[in-house]
Amino acid sequence: MASPASASSSSSSSLMWFRKGLRIHDNPALQHAAARACGPLYPVFVIDPRYMEPDRAAPSPGSSRAGVNRIRFLLESLADLDSGLRRLGSRLLVLKGEPGEVLIRCLEEWNVGRLCFEHDTEPYYQALDKRVKDFASAAGIETFSPVSHTLYDPADIIARNGGKPPLSYQSFLKLAGKPSWAASPLSTTLASVPPVGDVGRCEIFEVPTLIELGYNETEQDEGAPFRGGETAALTRMKEALSNKAWVADFEKPKGDPSAFYKPATTVLSPYLKFGCLSSRYFYQCIQDIYKDVKKHTSPPVSLLGQLLWRDFFYTAAFGTPNFDKMKGNRICKQIPWSDDEQLLAAWREARTGYPWIDAIMVQLHKWGWMHHLARHCVACFLTRGDLFVHWEKGRDVFERLLIDSDWAVNNGNWLWLSCSSFFYQYNRIYSPITFGKKYDPNGNYIRHFLPVLKDMPKEYIYEPWKAPLSIQTKAKCVIGRDYPNPVVSHDMASKECRRKLAEAYAVNQRLNGTVSDEDLKSLRRKLEEDQEKELRHTKQRR
Ligand SMILES: Cc1cc2nc3c(=O)[nH]c(=O)nc-3n(C[C@H](O)[C@H](O)[C@H](O)COP(=O)(O)OP(=O)(O)OC[C@H]3O[C@@H](n4cnc5c(N)ncnc54)[C@H](O)[C@@H]3O)c2cc1C
Repeated sequence: MASPASASSSSSSSLMWFRKGLRIHDNPALQHAAARACGPLYPVFVIDPRYMEPDRAAPSPGSSRAGVNRIRFLLESLADLDSGLRRLGSRLLVLKGEPGEVLIRCLEEWNVGRLCFEHDTEPYYQALDKRVKDFASAAGIETFSPVSHTLYDPADIIARNGGKPPLSYQSFLKLAGKPSWAASPLSTTLASVPPVGDVGRCEIFEVPTLIELGYNETEQDEGAPFRGGETAALTRMKEALSNKAWVADFEKPKGDPSAFYKPATTVLSPYLKFGCLSSRYFYQCIQDIYKDVKKHTSPPVSLLGQLLWRDFFYTAAFGTPNFDKMKGNRICKQIPWSDDEQLLAAWREARTGYPWIDAIMVQLHKWGWMHHLARHCVACFLTRGDLFVHWEKGRDVFERLLIDSDWAVNNGNWLWLSCSSFFYQYNRIYSPITFGKKYDPNGNYIRHFLPVLKDMPKEYIYEPWKAPLSIQTKAKCVIGRDYPNPVVSHDMASKECRRKLAEAYAVNQRLNGTVSDEDLKSLRRKLEEDQEKELRHTKQRR
């Protein structure tokens, strides 16, 4: 890091550092920067090549960290932010490089006196922001970093709970109460933004296209139907909220996970992830509707309740060291998951032989978004339901491919679905056959995302391996040739998973949170031996 330049507080220029919070409305950092500036204001976004540029070794198009759909969504969001700023008399300055280094160079080069950016609780940003704040403080630069990505300040909730994050939704709700900012309407417009000053020696780019980042035409052809940016976010939110009865009656998990032409939920998650939509503004708009209707659903199932889930996971994540790991995570059950790469690859590449599971995974690849219950099904299948593969492996796949990929929410939900934390009813397993059938008996969702099965008769669409060969041939989909056989038998695998979870839970209880690597190893050995014995018995019984 460069050494701090001389004190800059007398300097009149300000820098607004965008990371998430890619919006004009309800953006306290931008409002502060614009209102206080008495000189130029530099709105900056730093493109980190490691996050954005193609990695040809990655399992699907994208960088090593993000699938191409999310990168496209981010570029669209940046272009929209740039247009919004231009309408207000400014523009977005795009720079490239390691964000901390680039930012510090800008602060020095432009002799910045005030630095504004949205507070972020993710470990990556905590470390980055500390570096930048330390530099700013030594250089006499004023920093303003308000909480506006979430409804509440996670640190505040944790402090109110005696230093620990609440680990149940109900206890979170009790502590949270009405957000303090909700007492008066949010500021959602800005009259103008002071113009950008001389950029000196810093190299400034326009918002790049995917091609300019190094992607080729075929890598772009993924077909995600959601366009990034604040404009699309506000349009989408207004459209969803225009149906007041729908908002008032919203009840999750009652929606249909197989609805894809018109998804059963808002699909605002990618906009909330990048902050194209303010969660606080969304909250305020829902509250306005509740005031207008006679009755409405309540948390945890209501639409407002969904936003509160988001804050619940942010708070749990912020207050739990190693939240994204099994080891060293005090709220996570220690379970001897398998590291079977072949099963993981079959799941990731939509080759499990279970059409419902594979169709969801294709939707993940093509759209980067799936309904909440669809995510439940594939996460359960990979971990405690069928394959017994480590939740961290599934988390990694989601983290890279989801357009709404969110560190706190993704890890929190994987902990939940694998029965590692928050939720412990491991006997409740989603059937990869009957669950989807309840919503979509004809299998339209499967036919859309797995066209190889489009002519399979309805009776076999969820279990095509049961179709007689003549029917498979007529449907132009012979199982084992055109579409795989099931990688496991659900009945046997789910029974095995229940048994393993029961044993692992017993060990966790007996050792009361002190399960060592050695304990896990011996438990794994025991589970493998038991499984072999069970297989021998089954063969003998036959
Ligand atoms: C294994 C797994 C991984 C997940 N990973 C992510 C992720 O990386 N990013 C992400 O935003 N969501 C994640 N979710 C939560 C949830 O599935 C999505 O937020 C939701 O499906 C997004 O669709 P929507 O915007 O239409 O939701 P709506 O039902 O319209 O809800 C409105 C908003 O509430 C929030 N929300 C809804 N459900 C949840 C939830 N269970 N937990 C936290 N916040 C919620 C989201 O911000 C969402 O946009 C995951 C769920 C599972 C089971």
